[in-house]
Amino acid sequence: METKIINCHTHIFNRKVVPENFLPRWMTPLSKLLESKKTATVFFNLFSKIGKHDLALLIKKFHAFLTIGDLKSQLEIFKYLQNFYPTGTRFCVLPMDMEYMQAGKVKQSFIQQLEELAAIKQDPAYKDLIDPFIFVHPQRKDIFDIVQKYIEEKNFAGLKLYPPLGYYPFDERLNEIYAYAQKHQLPITTHCARGGVFYKGEITDAMKVHPKTGEHIKEQKNKFFTDIYTDPDNYRYVLEQFPNLKINLAHFGGYDEWNKYLGNTMEEGQITWYDKICSLIRQYTNVYTDVSYTMFNADLFNLLKLTLQDSTLNNKILYGSDFYMVEQEISERQFLTNIRAYIGESDFRQIAEINPKLFLNL
Ligand SMILES: [Zn+2]
Repeated sequence: METKIINCHTHIFNRKVVPENFLPRWMTPLSKLLESKKTATVFFNLFSKIGKHDLALLIKKFHAFLTIGDLKSQLEIFKYLQNFYPTGTRFCVLPMDMEYMQAGKVKQSFIQQLEELAAIKQDPAYKDLIDPFIFVHPQRKDIFDIVQKYIEEKNFAGLKLYPPLGYYPFDERLNEIYAYAQKHQLPITTHCARGGVFYKGEITDAMKVHPKTGEHIKEQKNKFFTDIYTDPDNYRYVLEQFPNLKINLAHFGGYDEWNKYLGNTMEEGQITWYDKICSLIRQYTNVYTDVSYTMFNADLFNLLKLTLQDSTLNNKILYGSDFYMVEQEISERQFLTNIRAYIGESDFRQIAEINPKLFLNL
């Protein structure tokens, strides 16, 4: 029987929702340059000619990434994504709310972004192919009403969290939403790998103490400091209160943590995020993880394959690619082809069809 793929982790937001100071200042002119196909090609050829193939490839990938985000609408980006999958493939689409990360203004508001997704979901041609999620930032004042409205009236499928934007998963402002999500078994997907998008504002003294453990967090660049919000341990406080919460700790802890685990390069007493996520899955019946982005790197395939042989973990791993973020590393088609070929059709069906159906209550 053919696998009916469900990709549990994709993005189709337009660059209009990305704040104006999102990129580091030195990169802004570079990204302006590489938006143009002509310039990108000139650089690609130049670097290829002088044997800098790594750089040439980097240019090509970055150009592809910029071009997708520049497509006219979320529907255009969605149609582009569909090209890489068999007809009938279903996609979880995760919006972003970057209005509180202190990186400046956005051109398209969060509500406009959700409304655009709602229109796609309403279209009979797409309603069974797209599962939009609602992004949850505790700073957005009416976020509970927004969640309720888009779940109950607009057929959205679940919720998306992104702690490194500057909040802990156990933030009390989220409790009402967690209670609602647990009651209705709504799937939640949360960013759970180091790095990614992060809070760019000032780091105050109060922020330098972990509110639960009292641990002192050392002063460092925001990019690294904000990992404290992402740490899988933070979910222990949430799950103690809401043990049946259906939650996907996305990216399985991320490439660095898998590497640490494989190379056994942790500091004394440290536990990798790979281990932490596995143990949360064993402890709580509704905790999931996904392979998105992280599995662009074939170095990790052996460990993935072995992890899939564990009968508990096998039921809790979801296929996701992190389109079009992963385009910075490899193409969507490579991502899908590599992982599917390596783990084989039976495990692929498990993570790309059977587990997603349970996660999404289909
Ligand atoms: Zn993502």
